[in-house]
Amino acid sequence: MVNAKYVYSFGGGRADGNGDMKDLLGGKGANLAEMAGHPDLKLPVPPGFTITTEVCTYYYKNGKTYPKELKDEVNKAVKKVEELMGRKFGDPSNPLLVSVRSGARKSMPGMMETVLNVGLTEKTIPGLIKQSKNERFVYDSYRRLIMMYSDVVMEKAAGIEPEDEKGIRRQLEQIMEQMKNNKGYKYDTDLTTEDLKQLCILFKKKVKEVLKKEFPDDPQEQLWGAIGAVFASWNGKRAVSYRRIEKIPDEWGTAVTVQTMVFGNMGDDCATGVAFTRNPGNGDNKFYGEYLVNAQGEDVVAGIRTPAPINEYSKSEHNKHLITLEEKMPNIYKQLVDIRNRLEKHYKDMQDIEFTIECGKLYMLQCRVGKRNGTAAVKMAIDMFKEKLITKEEAVLRVQPTQLDELLHPEIDPKAEKDAKIIAKGLPAGPGGATGQIVFTANDAVQWKKQGKKVILVREETSPEDVEGMRAAEAILTARGGLTSHAALVARGWGKCCIVGCGDIHINQKERTIKISDKFFKEGDFITLNGTKGNVYGEKLPMMDASEENKILNEFLKLCDSLRRLGVRTNADTPEDAKRARSFGAEGIGLFRTEHMFYGKGSEEPLFRLRKMIISKTEEERKAALKELYPYVKKDIKATLEAMDTLPVVIRLLDPPLHEFVPKEEDKLKMLAKELKISLDELKKRAEALHESNPMMGHRGVRLGITYPEVTEMQVRAIFEASAELIKEKKHPYPEIMIPVVCDVKELKNQFEIVKRVYSETIAKYKLKEIKYMFGTMIEIPRAALLASELAEVCEFFSYGTNDMTQMTFGFSRDDIGAFLPDYLNKGILKDDPFQTIDQQGVGEIMKIGIERGRKTRKNLEVGICGEQGGEPRSVEFCHSVGMNYVSCSPFRVPIARLAAAQAAVKEKK
Ligand code: PEP
Ligand code: MG
Repeated sequence: MVNAKYVYSFGGGRADGNGDMKDLLGGKGANLAEMAGHPDLKLPVPPGFTITTEVCTYYYKNGKTYPKELKDEVNKAVKKVEELMGRKFGDPSNPLLVSVRSGARKSMPGMMETVLNVGLTEKTIPGLIKQSKNERFVYDSYRRLIMMYSDVVMEKAAGIEPEDEKGIRRQLEQIMEQMKNNKGYKYDTDLTTEDLKQLCILFKKKVKEVLKKEFPDDPQEQLWGAIGAVFASWNGKRAVSYRRIEKIPDEWGTAVTVQTMVFGNMGDDCATGVAFTRNPGNGDNKFYGEYLVNAQGEDVVAGIRTPAPINEYSKSEHNKHLITLEEKMPNIYKQLVDIRNRLEKHYKDMQDIEFTIECGKLYMLQCRVGKRNGTAAVKMAIDMFKEKLITKEEAVLRVQPTQLDELLHPEIDPKAEKDAKIIAKGLPAGPGGATGQIVFTANDAVQWKKQGKKVILVREETSPEDVEGMRAAEAILTARGGLTSHAALVARGWGKCCIVGCGDIHINQKERTIKISDKFFKEGDFITLNGTKGNVYGEKLPMMDASEENKILNEFLKLCDSLRRLGVRTNADTPEDAKRARSFGAEGIGLFRTEHMFYGKGSEEPLFRLRKMIISKTEEERKAALKELYPYVKKDIKATLEAMDTLPVVIRLLDPPLHEFVPKEEDKLKMLAKELKISLDELKKRAEALHESNPMMGHRGVRLGITYPEVTEMQVRAIFEASAELIKEKKHPYPEIMIPVVCDVKELKNQFEIVKRVYSETIAKYKLKEIKYMFGTMIEIPRAALLASELAEVCEFFSYGTNDMTQMTFGFSRDDIGAFLPDYLNKGILKDDPFQTIDQQGVGEIMKIGIERGRKTRKNLEVGICGEQGGEPRSVEFCHSVGMNYVSCSPFRVPIARLAAAQAAVKEKK
């Protein structure tokens, strides 16, 4: 660090640093330099200087000491400030006071320390009284300094860890409270000058008694004590845990900014406030903020007095009776509006600003890019693009894909959620929030809903038979299962709030209770779920509706579409889902799971016939059952093809192991036995024969079609005949027939023979020249990816089934990961859940191999993904980078994927 510069001054229309130097000056220091010194801005920033983050790194590497040049640099910088202000640090007649603040590269709100009013001592007090002509204000500032300094510097930075309620700050607060009580005061502002003087004496006595040290009366000692305390707070408990959560490296360090104090609490022509250059709640291009007359920043945060709105627009129910800044100080307000406009033009983004008015003069204390919710982010991006403030590419990068979730799902009111206690945690399977009464069976969910109640279906695990209840419930909570378990898949498809694998809950199905820790919840009790975070709350919390306003969202997504290369399709199993997804912008169906027509509403009839087919013993019996089933399958496929007219629809042939459809209830078994004219015993025997110990790797997918070609034939015929009928009706169906769970090209050849034959028969029957269609396979088994060059001889498209692919690559059962995945994540063995985001190292490599080998054989091979990761932003970026043609995801994630695909394209160009 030879010749390093450690201190950067700002103020008086100049600055050594600038806004790009966040790494060195921290976010706060860099923005202060920018505001103070940039030719377009030169804003009224109280002069000061920033000690760099390199000093922090040095401090920790060298036994908490400073580089030897620092003292000199700081002294020089203090001198500059003194010259600009015409005051002197430590001068008895005209003293300069400073604030000492932290500031890392990335904002770490409230995690590190600040000391205000540094430089106020017994000697400088009279000078400040002379300057301010306000004795009360001076003693109020002094008591604040004692409180803050003894807490931050003398206690925390010294490594003293008092018990709860025994910290020095708390003890001083108690003294103040006692004085207020004794005198019958309600507010701090009721304290008189004499009271405050007395308090300062009591405070200093207490500090000595508790911390065994005098409160320092030397300005230099105060300054260096405060600087050291800010550096020390980088390694304070709060800051360290925040860094772990936010993944901020320890080496970054914090900068320290020392800045002239300006006072918003010197009288009624003083104030302090915070504002946003646009409304962060809805994105409106309107100046929005609050201020407090005669107050310091900490009073705003403390919430003792209600801050007033800065203008008419910022009025709310709580503050509408208060006078606005625009009315109270019109000139200052005008200046502030001008600054607001210049800041936006300069930063080209919404800024969050802090200001102080001292005796009728406005000062800017801070500005940074303001945080905003999803709705506001979208609105601002579109507006700023239209205002020509930013480019299309920048607009698209301004919104995080996950923020779109907020626009599509109801949420728990964040204010209420903040105060609520989390009673259990599970895997976040379906986003949004929901509150309702606990029910334990799907049937109850349906019945209670009919009575107008809102329910949450709590199950050990869900099965296809629960689908009706899942539909009726506000949300689903399961004790077992992972993110690709049945419950998670179904819930996500519907955009329903859902938490799975919540091992903290113990369900007693018979008693209809749940035990969480020591607490019992019974049927009908209210709980609330946050499906975005996986949190369960044991009470009813207020909800906020998802924004209905989709016009702006659509406009924004159109912008995304103009930039992306990757197609976005949807996984939809019903014509309704298909329609919804199309309205969200899906460009086709990437996965239509045929089996879903046997679950849920209207499935009784086809399911009964499917069961007949499954239980059949002879080919003859099976064919008869298939014939009965045929019209149902055709009808469903036809409706979906019609809903997606002109767009491709990937129809996957039956995938799950057949025993999944065998009924469990005695009455249903009896009905089936009767229909098949066999005894109940015989039926049970046949069902038993279908049992597998590892069904996920059992008789499923293409293996069913190999054993029972007639099952494939029936489905393929339904697809072609549905298409033929639509063509006759002047529609434009485009089916893509997809074979699941394939591991060898011979499986495909075998099935393709059936497809070709049925195709010719259909063409002839309907007297058509052609039916446009494609034949392809899922790639779910690693072997299939390795042999992709052979598979591509037969296939025109591949679709990666990354649910099964992940299961088979890791050897993790997708339905049982709830039991151990949290440990893998907590212990850092895995960084992410591979069922949620593609494991690019392993699964991703296999995918790349498959794409390369497949396209070697067939250059224009269409490649997509239909596993759950297909709607997750990082995975979408990966799919873009490996040259896939499209991603496919549940309808509610289509907008997210459109944005993520556009961002991938923009980032690639950069
Ligand atoms: C997959 O395995 O990724 C897939 C989409 O199929 P399913 O989830 O139905 O097994
Ligand atoms: Mg699969």
